[in-house]
Amino acid sequence: MNRITPVLAALSLAVPAAAKTPPAAPPPPPNLEQVADEALVRDERAWDFVEGITTEVGQRQAGTEAEARGRAWAAAWLKQNGFRNVADEHYMMPTWVPGEPGRAEILGPFPQSLAVAPLGDSASTGPEGITAEVLMFRTVADLQAAPAGSLAGRIAYVSNAMTRTQDGSQYGFAGPTRWVAAGIAASKGAVATVIKSVGTDSHRNPHTGGTSFPAGVKPTPAGALSNPDAANLERMFKRAGGKPITMKLVLTPRDLGETQSGNVVGEIVGRNPSLPPVLLACHLDSWWLGTGAVDDGAGCAIIAAAALNVAKAGQPLRTVRVLFAGAEETGLWGSKAYSAAHLGEPIAVGIESDFGADRIWRFDSNFRTTNPDLHKRIAAAVARFGVSAGSEVAGGGADLNIVRDQNGALVDLQQDGTRYFDLHHTPDDTLDKIDPAQLRQNVAVWTQVVGILANEGTAILTGSPMPSAPPIMDGKK
Ligand code: ZN
Ligand code: ZN
Repeated sequence: MNRITPVLAALSLAVPAAAKTPPAAPPPPPNLEQVADEALVRDERAWDFVEGITTEVGQRQAGTEAEARGRAWAAAWLKQNGFRNVADEHYMMPTWVPGEPGRAEILGPFPQSLAVAPLGDSASTGPEGITAEVLMFRTVADLQAAPAGSLAGRIAYVSNAMTRTQDGSQYGFAGPTRWVAAGIAASKGAVATVIKSVGTDSHRNPHTGGTSFPAGVKPTPAGALSNPDAANLERMFKRAGGKPITMKLVLTPRDLGETQSGNVVGEIVGRNPSLPPVLLACHLDSWWLGTGAVDDGAGCAIIAAAALNVAKAGQPLRTVRVLFAGAEETGLWGSKAYSAAHLGEPIAVGIESDFGADRIWRFDSNFRTTNPDLHKRIAAAVARFGVSAGSEVAGGGADLNIVRDQNGALVDLQQDGTRYFDLHHTPDDTLDKIDPAQLRQNVAVWTQVVGILANEGTAILTGSPMPSAPPIMDGKK
């Protein structure tokens, strides 16, 4: 303190305020590129969604009250974050639930327990279980070659060889072990089937997922062994010296009959809502083993965050609609119901996120030859995020039945699937497996792509689309 300070203070009170400068004009909204660049370094909404739903809801088995709680949670989140026309569109579906944790015990010649989980749509052994000799098949083709009736009274074990691939193509190679082996074995008299998990990890985690039984074949109990347990069983066959290997299998899934499920939708309404909307899809249901973080909480988080980001660059020309489909895992029930309810309402273009939260590495469309200008503009715009321009024909994700049914435009943003099948349909599908930096890269790329599509004035598909590849079904064929 000095003696001058009070004097200055008094003087300053006496001096009239300087003429006010006019307030600066508000800064213009950031352009789409700036919003997408910002999304790469800062995430406001995607983590909030996937962290929130995995924490407050957890697993969301299709058709159950847990899935219904997930829908309510997601609809509330969309409303809180400014989406309009939020709705939960109900439909009825046949619901299968897994029952008590599965048990598989080798009774002889090397008694011990193996980690097993039931496959979707498989039957129950009853609580007393089934005890039978196990016959081993290295591949689905070997099983197919087995003579009719040769599995009578036996449990089939069907192996596969699946490796990690960036494009996830090994799912198509190994997937039939889960999708069809139980049905083939049942048609040849097997009383039950266990498979080596369709997955690439080495934990004692069975990978569940849907299986199927052909018309006229009565469903049998079917389960997946974890990969290390399957390897153990295969070593037993080598050491058994021809002695029968006997397994007691206890799987207690149940069919609940028809229950209610639903598709949650919400919109960023465009400047011209009469134009066909851009449809962003994911699925909200999950298998019961994990908390549905990478499959597919992350996908819903990515598409919702991207839609909100697009609006930051100004109201888009077209409406951007998010579709959080229900009951994808157990048979694409939500996708089919959405198409049946809205087939007469054209969609401009569909995109889905359902392959985890790792980085996007390739962009594909089904309009590369019919609308090359648009395809090239998108490819050029996402190159700075490390995304290459693909030449595959986009097939769209499992929840985009409506767009395929309309022969509409599709975009695929291919994610790195190298570690996806370590986690897929296992107890390891939990939040901690999501890398926030890669999640942000997804949101950035999606923001850029959806922003371009939502501001496209002319029809996105001109002429006939290139025939689309069938999607890799997440649940089952
Ligand atoms: Zn999925
Ligand atoms: Zn899945």
